[in-house]
Amino acid sequence: MGQIFTEDHDQFRHSLRSFVEKEITPNVLEWEAEGQVPRSFFKKLGDLGFLGIRLGEEYGGSGLDFLYTTVLVQELMQCGSVGVPVAAMAHAEFATKIIERAGSDDLKDEYLRDAVAGNIIGALGLTEPGAGSDVAAIRTRAVRDGDDYVINGSKVFITNGTIADFITTGVRTGEDGYTGMSLLVVPADTKGLTRRRLKKIGTHSSDTAELFFDDCRVPARNLLGPEGGGFKPLMQGFEGERMVLSVIACAQMRLMWEAARQHGHDRKAFGQTLLEFQVWQHRLADVITSIEAAEALMYRGIDMYVRGEPCNAEISMSKLFATETALTVARECAQIHGGMSHMEECGMARLYRDSLAFTIGAGTSEVLRTIIANDKGLAKRRDHK
Ligand SMILES: Cc1cc2nc3c(=O)[nH]c(=O)nc-3n(C[C@H](O)[C@H](O)[C@H](O)COP(=O)(O)OP(=O)(O)OC[C@H]3O[C@@H](n4cnc5c(N)ncnc54)[C@H](O)[C@@H]3O)c2cc1C
Repeated sequence: MGQIFTEDHDQFRHSLRSFVEKEITPNVLEWEAEGQVPRSFFKKLGDLGFLGIRLGEEYGGSGLDFLYTTVLVQELMQCGSVGVPVAAMAHAEFATKIIERAGSDDLKDEYLRDAVAGNIIGALGLTEPGAGSDVAAIRTRAVRDGDDYVINGSKVFITNGTIADFITTGVRTGEDGYTGMSLLVVPADTKGLTRRRLKKIGTHSSDTAELFFDDCRVPARNLLGPEGGGFKPLMQGFEGERMVLSVIACAQMRLMWEAARQHGHDRKAFGQTLLEFQVWQHRLADVITSIEAAEALMYRGIDMYVRGEPCNAEISMSKLFATETALTVARECAQIHGGMSHMEECGMARLYRDSLAFTIGAGTSEVLRTIIANDKGLAKRRDHK
């Protein structure tokens, strides 16, 4: 870790750590109960420049590399609530970065400065009741009518969905398949857009919603890139999203490991501490070995990405391994906590349930295995002549 980060990254980490300790951690229980982070959370992050790390300076961003995003996510995770970095990243990395990547200059002017400042909040709306892993199967339709598009359809599981001011939305503007897909920035106050918050079993501090578009009229200038050109920027965005989830999973595993180690040293049974039983020494030895392996894969993917090397498979491996490992680590670290792991007042309980969504969001484990298999030529038939 020390080798990949520079002194500048370390300073950035230092400034974030005190911010998280003072401004975020004390509020986490309240945000978990409310089912969302407040608007002031985004404003504070924006004021300190944390929302524009990867965006251009002309929009108030800092144009820095993904390692700074890594540090940001790792430090936000120190609050112990996965929904917090998820809310920040759904805005800064998922919904906003794609506008910079594919939007017109006018659209960037209209949205990016305010997004970087935390004045407005973004969400990325792709998944539909009938289309998740198969992104190119979306059916929400946008039909050109004069200078507008008229949108009809629905989205589901959208992070920041009810609190967002704009939704970067995947729509169908043409034929079936990925060539008929486009991206439109939909202002949340558009007439005909309604939203419903969903109740989840984890990541409670992050708002997740269902969106309904009923004859929503959006200016055609809100299109990102050419009509039918939505698939490519989306796929490029997935690399960042998957790395973010790898970083969250690895940081979360570290927290669970620390909690388990502490508890193992403190808790006594049959006249000795739990960690005086060799079985728990071995189980936690396996836990930390898995975490170090996940981190090594994660840093490899990030390093390749930062250096501009093709790394779709490596990032997929990293997200697959980190998120699947987090499930095992969560179970082990919960087990050593005994009954306490099931109590709402125990931080471990929150970490445990928060680990469940990682293998689903931003590409399920099965989708990632398919990407890896294709990259390694596993799906190709061998000629046995
Ligand atoms: C907490 C949370 C936050 C989310 N935030 C967002 C968001 O901000 N924006 C957004 O657009 N979406 C969001 N999602 C949705 C997420 O991206 C989808 O849930 C995910 O892509 C899977 O789609 P699905 O739920 O429709 O499952 P499905 O695609 O129906 O998959 C169901 C199961 O079938 C498997 N499967 C599918 N295809 C194959 C195949 N070819 N081979 C083998 N197995 C397969 C899947 O791996 C999965 O196990 C979020 C989801 C969660 C849980």
